[in-house]
Amino acid sequence: MVISPTMGASATAPSAQARTQAKNVIFINGDGMGAAAREAARLHLAGLDGQLAMDKLAASGQLTTTPHDPKSVVTDSAAAATAWATGEKTYNGAISVDVDGNPLATLGQQAKAAGKSTGLVTTAQVTDASPAAFFANTANRSAQDEIARQYLDVSKPDVILGGGEDWWLPKGTPGAFQDKPAEDPTEGSLGTKGNLINKAQRAGYTYVSSAKQLDKAKGGKLLGLFSNEEMFQQRPEGQGDVYSPVVDLATMTTKALTTLDKNRKGFFLFVEEEGTDEFAHANNGARLLQSMQQLEKTVAVARAYVATHPDTLLVVTGDHETGGLAVEENDPNDESGTAISAEDGPFTIAGSSRTFTLDWTTSGHTSVDVPVTASGPLSDRFSGKHPNTYVHDVLAQVLAPRR
Ligand SMILES: [Zn+2]
Repeated sequence: MVISPTMGASATAPSAQARTQAKNVIFINGDGMGAAAREAARLHLAGLDGQLAMDKLAASGQLTTTPHDPKSVVTDSAAAATAWATGEKTYNGAISVDVDGNPLATLGQQAKAAGKSTGLVTTAQVTDASPAAFFANTANRSAQDEIARQYLDVSKPDVILGGGEDWWLPKGTPGAFQDKPAEDPTEGSLGTKGNLINKAQRAGYTYVSSAKQLDKAKGGKLLGLFSNEEMFQQRPEGQGDVYSPVVDLATMTTKALTTLDKNRKGFFLFVEEEGTDEFAHANNGARLLQSMQQLEKTVAVARAYVATHPDTLLVVTGDHETGGLAVEENDPNDESGTAISAEDGPFTIAGSSRTFTLDWTTSGHTSVDVPVTASGPLSDRFSGKHPNTYVHDVLAQVLAPRR
């Protein structure tokens, strides 16, 4: 018999459940990515009338990002990611602890409790504030070796891919990436929790440090560390700025998806491009656009996965805006800053002979709303304007254990 839409809705519990739960969640953070960064990337990569993959997601809204910090009005990545991961506003520097320093339950833990696999992929240190808030609790974001220890002892994400090898190894043990490299002599192993790479291997992780090893890696648990600190060198233009990760974000994300996809109960995957924040701090427009291109390529990977796995909620947003960025006409008389905040460009517009200029008002974060776009089950909840804690409220419902 033919089941009409009305009959289906009333007769089958699974369809009702499908609207409130998803098997998988892919949450993508363009760190520091506000509306102007998205618009600059749209012009540069898609053209005057073009649309980015991240902007093709059906649901769209805005998030406010204010922290609960006695000294700051503008959030950092730690307080913002804590809001996402726990639903609680806290102070800058806090990794999923409340304003009094008490640990809070995280979405990473909740996903595990629901029987799902979990993973994090970033071009920052894998223990940097944004991924850390989903998988660790500490009063101070700089305790990255403690965060790594908690990954292995407590939260146990199945896939950990990114930078930050320095925090997994004790002083004097350089690892796959040498101490004091020419591109940044301040880098070097500095962990105080023992050799956590050996510990991860004993716990069943396949450990890799190159693109080739990552490609060949098999198994359910994967630790890939591809740099000492961030997977790039963030500086103003022409001052040693380099964006050439050992493995690009899209490749890491593809590997994470094929690894996590093996769990019948689904997965929670956190993905982050960090260059979008760090190069905005350096007011480096060219490298910002390069990072946006990598993020866009990664969103395309996620969308391809979603196309064949529709039971997946995909969310793309930013934790805060960085740089007070504006997209402007090319006009040397309209200049808001000097030194590193001087105007940047002109930059090409895809499919056009026209160009645009980027202008910066700060080398720090700002408090403007960040855009959020989403597709899949419950994605319509993201329409409208909400505090960033609202991300937690939606994802917590999506990741609730199925009955
Ligand atoms: Zn930042």
